[in-house]
Amino acid sequence: MTRSIGLRPFTMLMALVVATPAFAHPETEAFVQSAFLKTPEIVDCTLEDGTETQCHEITVGYLPEGLKIGPFCPATLDDAGGIWEWTGENAGLYRVDGDFLRMLDGLGYRFFDDDGNVYSVDNATERPTVDHACINVSVDESVEITMLLPVDPVMADTPTQLGTVGKVGVALDGVPIFSDAPSIQMTGHMPALDTCGGHVDPGGWYHWHATSTDMATVFATEDVDADCAMDQNPGAQFGYAFDGFALYGSREPDGSEPVGLDQCNGHVAPAADGAAVYHYHARETFPNLPPCLVGVQAQDNFTTTATAGIGAQRAGQDGRNEPPRPQGGGPGGMPPGFEEAAASLGVTPQALLDALGGPGQRPDLAAAATQLGVTEEALRGVLPPPPNQ
Ligand SMILES: [Zn+2]
Ligand SMILES: [Zn+2]
Repeated sequence: MTRSIGLRPFTMLMALVVATPAFAHPETEAFVQSAFLKTPEIVDCTLEDGTETQCHEITVGYLPEGLKIGPFCPATLDDAGGIWEWTGENAGLYRVDGDFLRMLDGLGYRFFDDDGNVYSVDNATERPTVDHACINVSVDESVEITMLLPVDPVMADTPTQLGTVGKVGVALDGVPIFSDAPSIQMTGHMPALDTCGGHVDPGGWYHWHATSTDMATVFATEDVDADCAMDQNPGAQFGYAFDGFALYGSREPDGSEPVGLDQCNGHVAPAADGAAVYHYHARETFPNLPPCLVGVQAQDNFTTTATAGIGAQRAGQDGRNEPPRPQGGGPGGMPPGFEEAAASLGVTPQALLDALGGPGQRPDLAAAATQLGVTEEALRGVLPPPPNQ
């Protein structure tokens, strides 16, 4: 077989053009417009690699209108709640029901009392009084979330692994997407997901830990008896990753199987409008999100008006004078908010305190993040506000 040398430069040029991420732009028109609390704007922003550029700034509420959430925790062993990915012995995705909770009991994690009532705690307002509780956080309807998406995505030198509670992106319904919730082994407790793969953050806002429009594929693959009430379409775009690249279900828009996926489960291929651009695909197993992001996120791309949880602002900022949500004092004199911060990172409150150094010490966040095995940004994002600020 012979090759035309003359065609090579053209072929290479085409390959370059096709692979140029600048061809892929997030489109705010692709979102459910009612998700926005205000009209999206294009603002100046700085990417994590220092690139000065422009970003779409979008602001959403605690929950999109009309989205039904839950159930999370079953009331008793006779009820079925949401789902949970158990990472110990017999690892897998489970429906949170009597069979699952009895299995955990057999492994040393007892989530129910002698009458079969499941220990359930709203950790926005109360502290668990048992070693193992199902976490069921109440919503805070006042919360606003502001997110940034680069207008022109930039490829990173190396992909960023997402790990526990990494920022993944935002769904087209305006709901933020995060990677793995902290495991039971990390915190002792189970922040159960509903059957669409979402739950409420300690800050009172709902978020996805899964590609919720492709849960049926996951339940079939993992043999879990559950249904997500949302429309299921493996070929539909679910949202945008925070690097600005689109996130699809496990299939291409035409229903075919994606080919040539990279380690982040993405590739350059024709997407919805036929143009070949970089995009991610959901996986067929749980968690069905990309394991890493190939592009660069914007700095400070996730902030909330909540007084707790990921992306929380300092209380009183922006002229807000609302009282914080009631908070119980943590055990062992932990500063308020530390438990949530630790739980968000998947570490114990003591480990977080140890990593940050003693009181009065100015913490070295980079070193603390390395010690905890999380990104510095994740650490910054969850730290409670210092007192009197
Ligand atoms: Zn979560
Ligand atoms: Zn594809």
